[in-house]
This record gives sequence, C-alpha cells and structure tokens, in this order.
Amino acid sequence: MSDEGQGLPDRDAGRMPALFIGHGSPMNTLERNGFTNAWRSLGRGLPRPSALLVISAHWYFGATAVTAMPKPRTIHDFYGFPEALFDFDYPALGAPDVAQEVADIAKPLWVGLDRDQWGLDHGAWSVLAHLYPQADVPVVQLSINALRPLDYHVDLAARLAPLRDSGVMILASGNVVHNLREVQWKQPNAVFDWAERFDDAVVAQLADAPDDILKVCEHPDYARAVPTPDHFIPLLYLAGLAAAEGSRPEAIVRGYSMGSLSMTCHAIGADLPAGTDGENASVLPHDVPADQTNV
Ligand code: ZN
Repeated sequence: MSDEGQGLPDRDAGRMPALFIGHGSPMNTLERNGFTNAWRSLGRGLPRPSALLVISAHWYFGATAVTAMPKPRTIHDFYGFPEALFDFDYPALGAPDVAQEVADIAKPLWVGLDRDQWGLDHGAWSVLAHLYPQADVPVVQLSINALRPLDYHVDLAARLAPLRDSGVMILASGNVVHNLREVQWKQPNAVFDWAERFDDAVVAQLADAPDDILKVCEHPDYARAVPTPDHFIPLLYLAGLAAAEGSRPEAIVRGYSMGSLSMTCHAIGADLPAGTDGENASVLPHDVPADQTNV
C-alpha cells in the first residue's frame, strides 16, 4: 500500500454508496458555503470507487446514452457566469469499459455509447469538484432520456443497481425543487412554503416507500416544484436503486436556495454525522434572467 494519494480503488469495499445531490447554481463549484462544505465532508468519508456513473439533469435529450470516450471534455453549459467558471476544468478520465458494462446491464433497454459528443457537464463537475477534488476517479455520464415516461427511469435505475457491487458509485445530480421562474436571487436562504412542502413530501416518501416515489407526482405542489422534469428525474434513479436493494434513502443534507430551489441531498450507504442543514448556496448572475442561465 502506498501512503500517497488515495491509493487504489476499493474493489473489495463491498457495495458502493449511491447519492442524489441537489446542485443549485454552478457557482457552487468555486465557492465555499454550507452546502459545498457538506459535500466536502461527505466526500472525505466516501470510499474510492473504480468509477463514477453520473446522472446529471443537464444531459437531457431524446435518447439514453452513456459517455464512452477515454477523456471526457469539461462542458460549460450555462450563461451569464464569471469567466473563472468558464475556465474551470475537471480533468477526470472516462471509463469506456464501464460504459460498455452499463449498456450490457441495461438490456433489453437500449443505451447508446457516446464516443465523441458529450463529456462532463456542470451538473456532474460542480458536485465532483467537492466530492472528489483531485479528479482522480474515472467518470462516465448517463443521459436522461427526455422521451421516456418517469417510470422508465425508476426501472433503468434498478437494472443499474448491480454496478454498485463491482466498484461503481452512482451519483445523481439535480434539484428536487427547481423552479427558475420564481427564484428570488436577492434572498439566498429563502424558501417558499410550497417548495418546502414538496421537498418534505419527497423526504417522507423515500423514508416510507422509495419504490412508490412517483406518488409524489400527485402532490398538490408538484407542478410548481417540478415545472420541467429534468432536475427531478435524477432523484428517480436514487429511488430505483434503493427499491432494488430494499433500502430507504436518507436525507443527508437539507436546505433551500433563492426560494424555489431545494438543495436537499439523499443517500444510500453513505452518511454525514447527524445530517447537515446547509445555507448560503451560491446565487445566480444578476444580468441574465434566471430561466435563461441553464442552471
Ligand atoms: Zn442544474
């Protein structure tokens, strides 16, 4: 064993944790606040996987695909942010073998191998910058197929569950409540009543019956909390993984940002001491309308 770095992957570490992180503004990449400090603390306690499989809200298009290039590029997929954020690079390697494993294990569902299109988007790297700041764990991203119904994603997640036993950590990155038209950018720690009610309902549903996660779509605040499904669907992957192993995710970080974003994080197989309430998440640029920032 070497004393340097984090050593070799924990292939014998047993089942890898699975995470849902509420990522919020991409400026969380560069800033230290209650949430990014919690992600750092979480990261220090995580095992070292052989690879990370990331499901990010920001790769949302009309097919199910997995990045299969050896060196995924860092994609700066947002508008109106400082130059320093466009300069940020997350140089993790890809893992073409893990991409192939994802395609095989998902069958008969079809997963395309993306060898030259996508890369790592900010839903992935804004979080990984804190969980694995050395960028020394290979990363593949799985797209969110926008043409499929919600239950497709719960089902696909269950098919991916065995990857956790072969050293792959699954990280879903979105926001349970994500309404950009209603953000209050002058109030970083505000929360609307409806946002809090829906976030609480998701916590309760995951604690009770993650296999029935789609019940929350009948909640009276669902339409306002989830005006578009892109940031909500990553949560369905964590719910599907929990259902597959018969466990219940825990809310390891709670909190809100700018009224209409929930920063809550859920996990299975990972824990933060006594859970954490975050605050002061990064805000959005002032000179671009929030719903045109692509956060
Ligand atoms: Zn986002």
